[in-house]
Amino acid sequence: MAERIDGKAISAQIKDEVKSKVSELKNEGIEVCLAVIQVGNDPASNVYVGNKKKACEYCGIRSESHELPESTSEDELLELIGRLNADAAVDGILVQLPLPEHISEDKVIAAIDPAKDVDGFSVNSVGALAVGKKGFRSCTPAGIIELLKRTGIEIAGRECVIIGRSNIVGKPMALMMLEQNATVTVCHSKTVNLRDVTSRADILIVAIGRPKMITAGYVKEGAVVIDVGIHRNENNKLCGDVDFDDVAGKCSYITPVPGGVGPMTIAMLMHNCVSKYL
Ligand code: NAD
Repeated sequence: MAERIDGKAISAQIKDEVKSKVSELKNEGIEVCLAVIQVGNDPASNVYVGNKKKACEYCGIRSESHELPESTSEDELLELIGRLNADAAVDGILVQLPLPEHISEDKVIAAIDPAKDVDGFSVNSVGALAVGKKGFRSCTPAGIIELLKRTGIEIAGRECVIIGRSNIVGKPMALMMLEQNATVTVCHSKTVNLRDVTSRADILIVAIGRPKMITAGYVKEGAVVIDVGIHRNENNKLCGDVDFDDVAGKCSYITPVPGGVGPMTIAMLMHNCVSKYL
């Protein structure tokens, strides 16, 4: 039976490290501040924003909340971002996605000062990752690297297969695993013979967005399986892209849903808020 990778415990460890850094900075008279912008009233976004604010509170980071109505224009939002860029008291700017349809997400992300892009979504941050330069790292894949390292799982030289090529998970994940010297393959919706490819993986990272799609038949004996997916099943219980009960009997390590990758995303956001002081 596979060992569970405890994302709850590891994320708590990271938040405690951030908390102690924030308190050190407070003693030096520096207050860390994250500006959180939400446009509209999407219920899922309300939950995500609420959790981010709670994490800030726990770590001692001041969260400055900008809750804007759905009718906010793109220009108004860009103007607010301009003001926050210029505000030396603001360390990070987070714009909760998705934005209403009349606002271009690309334009908004591009408007954030790269030095405050704590989500790591901008072309600038992703470009820095691609060429191995310092910069903000997208929180979910950066959290997965921490999960692997802090569990003592060797990455260098191992065969890593990632399913999914999204800009926020799959692509930056591939770059980060390359940076850690894994041999990386990226699969996606047009991949032929997916099982043949995934069955080669020592480390299989799954970010498809399809509940329980990955069963034991996709997994090599003894592999490490990381499940990024989050879904609610027919009983309103959370589940991932991996069929946990089926796969856990075959692999060596596995992340559960909930309690695996999920909590790491916010922990890494907190880390990004203080990373310039580390
Ligand atoms: P996405 O929809 O942007 O990308 C899904 C990817 O899966 C695509 O690249 C697509 O090519 C690939 N794909 C789809 N069907 C496939 C198939 N049959 N075979 C192979 N590849 C296939 O999704 P995303 O934003 O990367 O998110 C993926 C999942 O992770 C979702 O369930 C999302 O809710 C979850 N997620 C979790 C966190 C977290 O903090 N834990 C963060 C982001 C996303």
